[in-house]
Amino acid sequence: MAADIVDQANSLASILNDTALNAQIRKHRFHLPSLSKCKDCDDDIPKARQALGGVTRCVECEGDVLQARRQKGLPSE
Ligand SMILES: [Zn+2]
Repeated sequence: MAADIVDQANSLASILNDTALNAQIRKHRFHLPSLSKCKDCDDDIPKARQALGGVTRCVECEGDVLQARRQKGLPSE
């Protein structure tokens, strides 16, 4: 009986961990391809930055977006 409860708890913990991990992966979009040009200013995005995955803006524009979100009290995405 106690072992069943422990097994159920372990199973639930595993499901929760997988769900949280998948949410983080979706949130950070690292699995998506990057753009070669910034979607805001059309500047080239360096290959090293593109390699991060899911990159859509140059460093300067991404910084501007993050700063604007912080000023509005929004999370950084
Ligand atoms: Zn840009």
